[in-house]
Amino acid sequence: MDEDQIEHFRRQLLQQQQDLLGLQETAAEAAGTVELDQTSVGRLSRMDALQGQAMSQERGRRRQIELQKIAVALRRIEAGDYGYCVRCEEEIAIKRLEFDAATPLCINCASNSDETGR
Ligand SMILES: [Zn+2]
Repeated sequence: MDEDQIEHFRRQLLQQQQDLLGLQETAAEAAGTVELDQTSVGRLSRMDALQGQAMSQERGRRRQIELQKIAVALRRIEAGDYGYCVRCEEEIAIKRLEFDAATPLCINCASNSDETGR
């Protein structure tokens, strides 16, 4: 992979990071709203609100995992290891990186591991 390609993926990762952090702020605001509304809503809608809160917490957890993957990928770009599988050290196919720039595994290792690899 040449420098232009790495720069392309670096920008893509930074963009994804921005998007995820933006969503996180929105979710935090939504959770705050649920908190405030609890005194004024009835029991059933309060349960709906709590359920919605649990769902947004689950989404938040997945976002954290995704952000972690992106942070690791960005560190690997800085270290010059980006684009190589962390397990077998083969080059990861560009097409695979286009699909998920944060993936640390080549297609073979991803399909042989418990991780879905998307
Ligand atoms: Zn591999």
